[in-house]
Amino acid sequence: MRRILSLILAAVILTIAIPTLAYPIELMGNDESKIYHRIDCRTIKYPERNHWTRFTSTEQAISAGYRACKICHP
Ligand SMILES: [Zn+2]
Repeated sequence: MRRILSLILAAVILTIAIPTLAYPIELMGNDESKIYHRIDCRTIKYPERNHWTRFTSTEQAISAGYRACKICHP
C-alpha cells in the first residue's frame, strides 16, 4: 500500500515538474533600445505600448542584434 502511494506521489510530482522544466525561456527584446529582457523584468513597464520582439533563447536574441539587460540578466 505504501509503495502504491509513493508511486502515485512520484507520478504527480513528475507531471508538475516536467512541463516547468521543458517550458522554453521567454525573452522580450525592445526594438528601440535593442536590449532583451526576461519577461518579468521590472524595467518592462509598458509591454503593450513599446515595440517588443519575443525570443525563446538568448542566442536568438543576440543573433538578432540585441544585448542583454543589465538589471534582469537574461
Ligand atoms: Zn531587463
